[in-house]
Amino acid sequence: MASIRVAQPHGFCAGVARALRIADEALRANAPVWCLHAIVHNTHVVEQLTARGMRFVETLEEIPDGATVLFSAHGVPPAIRLEAARKNLQFIDATCPFVDKVHREVAAFARAGSTILCIGNPAHAEVIGVAGEAPGVFHAIATEEEALNVPVANPERVAVVTQTTISAQLADRLLTILRHRFPHLQEPRQADICTATRERQEAVSRLAAETDLVIVLGSPASSNSRRLAECAQACGTPAVLIDSLDQLDQIPLPERIGLTSGASTPENFLLAAKAHLEAIGGQNQ
Ligand code: SF4
Repeated sequence: MASIRVAQPHGFCAGVARALRIADEALRANAPVWCLHAIVHNTHVVEQLTARGMRFVETLEEIPDGATVLFSAHGVPPAIRLEAARKNLQFIDATCPFVDKVHREVAAFARAGSTILCIGNPAHAEVIGVAGEAPGVFHAIATEEEALNVPVANPERVAVVTQTTISAQLADRLLTILRHRFPHLQEPRQADICTATRERQEAVSRLAAETDLVIVLGSPASSNSRRLAECAQACGTPAVLIDSLDQLDQIPLPERIGLTSGASTPENFLLAAKAHLEAIGGQNQ
């Protein structure tokens, strides 16, 4: 019989809980509400809010003038706020305070005349939003090679920030390269990777050491969920990311199973996955 261990902490972080509270209040007060991009990167959450009347769109053009728009937990570039104001949209901001902190840092570094390097995925909504604070002087980097070769105008004036949900190990590796390459590198007073991300990555590493397979519950678009699977794999333990219960049936289950969930994954999905595993022979530890 397979044993099941659940990582602690797992699941919703404070930023996601806050965004969902804001979405709930907006729907109660202002329905219909348009949300620019997924409010958090989880298909279950988006489906539940869609069922309650929230309309998810990818551009402001899709929203009628004067309507109410919700900005997701990942934040938006300043240009989007200006465009929303031009369209007379009432906007409600669910940007996570940790993401907002990175926006303020980037704006301050840009005002000081620095080139800004952001350790993160350039295609992620959070990085796109942050990049908008420093057009023309912002570069996202995601690999050692990019850290070694990214061009900067003045090596004496370079600043670095980090996507909040990136792998802490990757960030440390890239920061080491950048500090060596730019001895005057400016860094935020407090690290940008949020506490929730760090704690969940540390918890999954501990779990990986005690199990034969780590199952991460989360959507493929969720950066922090993907990082959890990578953390487990970096510890030498196979890991899978799953977004629906039927995917569980397709996984050969070893003797010791570890279970965790991303910061945007609802707890009821973890409980359902645990019950499903127990029904097919797993035993809670
Ligand atoms: Fe905020 Fe961190 Fe949660 Fe992202 S993972 S919403 S940055 S607390």
